[in-house]
Amino acid sequence: MKSHYRVVVIGGGIVGSSVLYHLARHGWSDVALIERAELTAGSTWHAAAGFHALNDDPNIAALQGYTIRLYEDIERESGQSVGMHMTGGISLAASEERWQMLKAERAMYETMAMQTTLVTPEEICEMCPLVDPRGLKGGLFDAHEGYVDAHGTTHAFAIAARKRGAEIILRNRVLDLQQRADGSWDVITEKGKTHALHVVNAAGLWARRVGRMAGVELPVVPMSHHYLVTDDVPLLASMDREFVSVTDLEGFTYLQPLGKGALLGVYERNPQHWSPEGAAWDYGMDLLPPDVERILPELEIGYARFPALAEVGIKRWVNGAFTFTPDGNPLVGPVPGKRNYWVACGCMGGFSQGGAIGLTLAQWMIDGDPGHDIFGMDVARYGAFAAQETYLRDMTRQFYARRFVISYPNEELPAGRPLKISAVHDRLAADGARFGVSWGMETPQYFAPQRDDFVEKLTMRRSNAHDFVGDEVRATRTAAGMFDASTYARYEVSGPGVEAWLDRLLSSRLPTQGRVRLAPMLGHGGKLMGDLTVSRLAADRFWLIGSYYLQEWHGRWFHDLLPNNGVTLKNLSDSWSGFALSGPLSREILQPLLERDLSNTAFPFLSCAEIDLGFSKAVLARLSLTGELGYEIYVPAPSQPALCDALMRHGRDLGLRHIGNRALDSLRLEKSFGIWSTEFTQSITPGMCGLDRHVAFDKGDFIGREGALRERDTPASRVLVTLAIGASPDKAQTADASGFEPVKCHGRLVGYTTSGAFGHWVGQSLALAYVDRSVVRENPPVTVDVVGESHPAQILAEPVWDPRGARMRA
Ligand SMILES: Cc1cc2nc3c(=O)[nH]c(=O)nc-3n(C[C@H](O)[C@H](O)[C@H](O)COP(=O)(O)OP(=O)(O)OC[C@H]3O[C@@H](n4cnc5c(N)ncnc54)[C@H](O)[C@@H]3O)c2cc1C
Repeated sequence: MKSHYRVVVIGGGIVGSSVLYHLARHGWSDVALIERAELTAGSTWHAAAGFHALNDDPNIAALQGYTIRLYEDIERESGQSVGMHMTGGISLAASEERWQMLKAERAMYETMAMQTTLVTPEEICEMCPLVDPRGLKGGLFDAHEGYVDAHGTTHAFAIAARKRGAEIILRNRVLDLQQRADGSWDVITEKGKTHALHVVNAAGLWARRVGRMAGVELPVVPMSHHYLVTDDVPLLASMDREFVSVTDLEGFTYLQPLGKGALLGVYERNPQHWSPEGAAWDYGMDLLPPDVERILPELEIGYARFPALAEVGIKRWVNGAFTFTPDGNPLVGPVPGKRNYWVACGCMGGFSQGGAIGLTLAQWMIDGDPGHDIFGMDVARYGAFAAQETYLRDMTRQFYARRFVISYPNEELPAGRPLKISAVHDRLAADGARFGVSWGMETPQYFAPQRDDFVEKLTMRRSNAHDFVGDEVRATRTAAGMFDASTYARYEVSGPGVEAWLDRLLSSRLPTQGRVRLAPMLGHGGKLMGDLTVSRLAADRFWLIGSYYLQEWHGRWFHDLLPNNGVTLKNLSDSWSGFALSGPLSREILQPLLERDLSNTAFPFLSCAEIDLGFSKAVLARLSLTGELGYEIYVPAPSQPALCDALMRHGRDLGLRHIGNRALDSLRLEKSFGIWSTEFTQSITPGMCGLDRHVAFDKGDFIGREGALRERDTPASRVLVTLAIGASPDKAQTADASGFEPVKCHGRLVGYTTSGAFGHWVGQSLALAYVDRSVVRENPPVTVDVVGESHPAQILAEPVWDPRGARMRA
């Protein structure tokens, strides 16, 4: 071990080895991996090592595809076999609902250029003769699934990394981490001390403990997982190839070939955590005792689906532990607030994701940018709340138990709730609110007034809550609707240096005092980092409004760029709250509460001001996401109930009502307004989504300017458009797009949807979509696959509602 490295990676499982390899491959060879015992000594050695590219998050699916393609490279580079078995894989559907879902998934994968095929029960038996096809509707086949050898693959990464100059130090536990004033780390190990500019926590089962060495609480916890390996199965003896791997989604099991036998793994509905603080330091390459009783219900279903297994003995039980996060995705990237401390842990699918995690981390550390939209695995997608013991236990338990359970677009899951409620929660509940959750905050989805008995049915199509949402939309277009703005993030930035700082941070021009602007924030490469609104309350004091769930992510970005003095940043997201009030009568409703004149000349569109409102100070801005005359009104959070009552007192008789997220979606789609997470993401450029009209290319330097200019000269091939989706000729339309549905022209894939909803006011199913520029120019009829069925659609030249924006400016 040397006295100094540029990077020390802690942990030699599949993930740490891949991180080391990618750092070396990207040119940093002064890097070392320190491993407590031997390579693979955590979860890795006993993994079934199955892999697949399919994932609900298209960005993660693309990265999983990268991991799989990489295996050939590292085998060649290292000379070490990875033991590749590309068997292909089938997901089974044993219910009509599941079959529909697989059809929808096939369409979604098509948008990601992943060719999967729907197969019949007969074809399934042909590919895997162990399957009993009774009750099966069909399956989804993907050729890019299989399994590798866990030991060989980890060593292939390690050997290839060594060949590129990286060092691997075995049997040497990292005991402690001490940060120096310059942000670098003293790494205290059993064999002495070394120094590193960066450290990477890739400690798998021990990640939580290694986090605490740096004062970091990570939302990651080990859980136990079983598979069994059978003796040789006679049915397979005469087969000259391996059977295709099978996941029985209704049966909670997966089946892989292993020699002439099979490996049967179980995702039981009654899962169990193991060693919640992380494995003990002296935990060896051990297995946990099998707990067959606990997984018996799922095993019985498994043996019924694969009856030939019952004819042979069980050669081996494996009950091992691996780590889970609340949403099952890994934790990757720089930890907010902890300079030069990186994580690559919480990975439950090391053989699908290990390569991608290594690539992402290396690009991020070396180039300052992960290179892809990896929000789904970014450690900053969580706040401190996620590492809280009970929350973490409940969320991971829910995730594990539902691993193969159908998720519906209108489904709200119960675990970890309620964590945070806004000050008006009880008022909203009394008005019939049905809540979802955003970053722990209870958020109204829709209101079922005076219908305590109403239960929404889970469906991939329009639900029985459709008409409630319609009522909220109609109220907003004819009178006014108010949305609890607790799920917006609010930041105050102030100080003598704030103007210069914001001018560099945001790509738009800064507003003058008393004005608001939409301000795209770009990353270093010119892609989006945020779609903020910026309000100038004083010469040197601004408010930024963003998405509530991005607080940690945006916070990391702001703090990384914040100068040492001259600018103060305060996160007011929980201490201030309010409402987005909009609709043609909103001025009439609000005016009696204020001294200030709200007339159009005195307070025009995109104005802002600090005002007195009742007994409280307030910040008022005139803008709306619904396309109607609208205001955002913010007060200190404890005053939000009083604000709610005052608005309702003046507004109820005029038709004011509470509205939820679903009505907002319907309203914004009628106006062709995009939002963060669907239309605007880290992989989108301002030119693609139309936010370039807010970019001040000529204002001087700002972050991402070079990339934005390049894009202006060479526009991206796809642009954001609105689609009006019709019913297919033979069917009534009962579903709307929800995102990632393929858009086709004469059967050719030309784009994909980002979000969809029924436009209740215009009476039209609508979607936003990224579509090839050439197709948009010609504007031929297109089709969109919704819930697996093709529907005719038309690209709209302008928003269906109030295209000139006259109502917002009224
Ligand atoms: C039964 C079972 C079946 C599975 N099947 C699959 C499958 O089919 N496909 C799939 O993709 N995944 C599967 N997994 C999950 C897979 O094992 C994990 O995703 C993967 O192994 C995680 O790798 P890792 O490198 O993050 O962690 P680990 O393998 O746990 O590696 C962490 C390493 O860090 C070292 N370490 C920890 N603390 C220190 C310290 N202080 N100093 C030095 N070194 C330290 C440890 O010794 C260990 O070697 C399975 C897991 C189990 C238990």
